[in-house]
Amino acid sequence: MSEFDLIAKYFKRDTQRGDVLLNVGDDAAVLQVPTNRRLVAAVDTIVEGVHFPVGTDAAAIGHRALAVNLSDIAAMGADPAWITLSLSLPRRDEAWLDNFSRGLFALANRFNVALVGGDTVRGPLNVTVQALGLVESDGWLTRSGAKPGDAIFISGSPGEAAAGLQAIQKSIPESSVLIDRFLWPEPRVHLGRALREMASAAIDVSDGLLADLGHIAEQSGVAARIDLASLPISPTMSKLFDRNTCERFVLSGGDDYELLFTVPKNRLLLMKSLPLQCTQIGEVIQGSGVICHRSGQPVEFVNRGYDHFA
Ligand code: ADP
Ligand code: MG
Repeated sequence: MSEFDLIAKYFKRDTQRGDVLLNVGDDAAVLQVPTNRRLVAAVDTIVEGVHFPVGTDAAAIGHRALAVNLSDIAAMGADPAWITLSLSLPRRDEAWLDNFSRGLFALANRFNVALVGGDTVRGPLNVTVQALGLVESDGWLTRSGAKPGDAIFISGSPGEAAAGLQAIQKSIPESSVLIDRFLWPEPRVHLGRALREMASAAIDVSDGLLADLGHIAEQSGVAARIDLASLPISPTMSKLFDRNTCERFVLSGGDDYELLFTVPKNRLLLMKSLPLQCTQIGEVIQGSGVICHRSGQPVEFVNRGYDHFA
C-alpha cells in the first residue's frame, strides 16, 4: 500500500460539515469562515516518552493529540471546527494506524470536527494536531481579563490525570478510573462555550493548576489567592493517596485539561447553568503571583508545574 493509499484509508473521511469546501487529497484544504465569526487557531505536539509513556495504546494517543487541542479551543470560548494532523511514525504499522485513527475520529465526531489535511512522515513517534475553531466576532476568552474581586473556579476533578500517570508508573492496583483520566482526557468544549459570556479570564490546565493560574495572574496584572481547603479532591483519588499527595496532584499535576477561570461577582448567579461541576477555589486580588492559604494563613508551595526546558 502506498503512502497515499494509507492516507486515504486511515485519514480521509467524508464530513457532514458544509463549510469544508475542499477536503483531504489536494495540496491544501479550503474552508468557509462565516463573515460574522472569527477564526481561532491552536497547535500542539505530543511526543512519545514525553507526553505519553512508550507503548501507550495508539487509540489513546489519537484521542490525546486531538483532546489537548480541543482544550485550547475550549479555553478561548470557541467552537472547534477543523483540524490538520502531522504524523511522524517510526514504521508503517497498519494495526497502529487503524487504532490511532479510531481514537482520533471517535473524539472528532463527538464534536463535529473535520480532519481536512495533514502530513505523514517517517521519524520518531510524534503527533501534531492543529485545531481551527470559530468564535463570535464580539468576544472570546483570554488569560488577561481577570480583575480583583473575581472568583476563581476550576472545572471537574483536577489532579486525577497526574494520579493516573503515577498509578501507571508505580503499577498501583484498582486505579483504572484514574488511569483512564490520564489516557483519555476530556476537553471541556461545552463548558468553554458557556463561559464565553460569564468568565473574565480562562485557561486550560495543561501544566498544573498553580502554573496556569500564574499565567492568568501575570497576563491580567493581578494576584490570585487560593484556599487549599476548598480544592476539589475526588474520592477516587483520596482512596489511593493521602491528602498531601492529592493536593500536590491538584496543584501541580498537568494533563487534566480542566478549565481554570475567573468570574466577576455580579455574574456568579449565571454559574447555575453550567454543563459541568465547577468549584470555587479562591479569589483574584491586587498584587502579583499566586498565593496559597490554609486556614487563613499563607503557605509556601514550591512545585510550579511542568516546564520542558527547566
Ligand atoms: P503534499 O506533498 O502536497 O504536501 P502530501 O502527500 O503530504 O501532499 O499529502 C497529500 C494529501 O493528504 C494532502 O491533502 C494532505 O493534506 C493529506 N494528508 C497527508 N497526511 C495526512 C494525515 N496524516 N492526515 C490527514 N490528511 C493527510
Ligand atoms: Mg505534505
